[in-house]
Amino acid sequence: MTIGILGGGQLGYMLALAGYPLGLHFRFLDPSPEAPVGRIATRITAQFTDRSALKKFAAGLELVTYEFENVPVETARFLAERVPVLPPPAALEAAQDRLNEKRLFQRLGIATTDFAAVTDRHALEGAVQQIGLPAILKTCRLGYDGKGQWILRSAEDVSRAKSELPAATAPGAGKRKSTELSQASTPFLLERLVPFARELSVLAVRGRTGETAVYPLVENHHRKGILRLSLAPAPQLVPAIQQAAEDAARRVFDALQYVGVLAIEFFEHEGRLLANEMAPRVHNSGHWTIEGAITSQFENHLRAVVGLPLGSTHAIGCSAMLNLIGEVPDSAEVLAVRDAHLHLYGKSARAGRKLGHVTLRASSPEQLASRLGELPSYFHRPEFGLEAILHHATLARG
Ligand code: AMP
Repeated sequence: MTIGILGGGQLGYMLALAGYPLGLHFRFLDPSPEAPVGRIATRITAQFTDRSALKKFAAGLELVTYEFENVPVETARFLAERVPVLPPPAALEAAQDRLNEKRLFQRLGIATTDFAAVTDRHALEGAVQQIGLPAILKTCRLGYDGKGQWILRSAEDVSRAKSELPAATAPGAGKRKSTELSQASTPFLLERLVPFARELSVLAVRGRTGETAVYPLVENHHRKGILRLSLAPAPQLVPAIQQAAEDAARRVFDALQYVGVLAIEFFEHEGRLLANEMAPRVHNSGHWTIEGAITSQFENHLRAVVGLPLGSTHAIGCSAMLNLIGEVPDSAEVLAVRDAHLHLYGKSARAGRKLGHVTLRASSPEQLASRLGELPSYFHRPEFGLEAILHHATLARG
């Protein structure tokens, strides 16, 4: 049975590694000849919009899934006429546009930060009046890892942003690919800047028969908009918060007739969850599940889309996942730490690029804190925020 995967980055790489023991084969489509999956599976190098390549890609596949959420929706729909595409293209459509996504959450009764659409400079003033300051202005499309975002704290910040926004909405607004504030037709979203206590994410999976399973919530630490470290299960997790996250995931599942792994990122603020965004795919904050859960998110995604029973999402002890960004540490120094697991994605080094990750597993939060402390100096740089976490009473107390 051959599964087609759109996108050939590290998420696809780890999907294939999880799928081989299940007897699955993989064919990837990615525009880059450097996509790391080329080392381990068949890869077609073509644009997502190349219809003849898409036909060749789809021939003989059991189904198509994706590991990249900015695959054009038209590509997913074109393939869906030939072969099942899971999660359904409607999930891609909802997740690709921050405004659609927030409106979906709102429609489903899932709490979010206050938000307003901003199509041009006149709309910015109205939106600021509605939302208040401080606020965060985001591109609706193609912003990720903190790209395409501006924090507005003062009237000066607003007038600076205003001078760069288009005077009026150009035709086709929302369809253009852009992460630049100055590019005329991209609409924006203004959100209230929330002084959240912490960021949490939920990974949930729904099978073809409607069976669902949910992993324990994960606590995520970002620096410069990029995920650096995840703790799983999130320390000091109260059942009501886990329940609220599960409830949100199930609402999205039902609304979209979803199949596969879904990630939703939240802010924990004043004891409740505010949904920030969702990803209709396996997610960086779920990498810990490879060693830290009974069934990994990658295996469960494949089980779901293929129609196999789902595996247990229980955590085995507690885990920390640390991303290797821009450069990698010495492998021997990492592996000298007890129960450290190293994953290198086979990508060439470049600033800001995710090149691999390390998962540390332990039987208690105290043991995890002590193993984190043993990690080589690479991990003690300020961007990981490790020192603060190690001193964080919640982790030490469990
Ligand atoms: P996003 O691309 O929406 O995930 O945003 C990247 C990061 O910016 C998030 O992980 C948060 O740390 C921060 N952020 C985004 N939106 C907000 C908000 N409304 N309030 C506070 N922080 C935010």
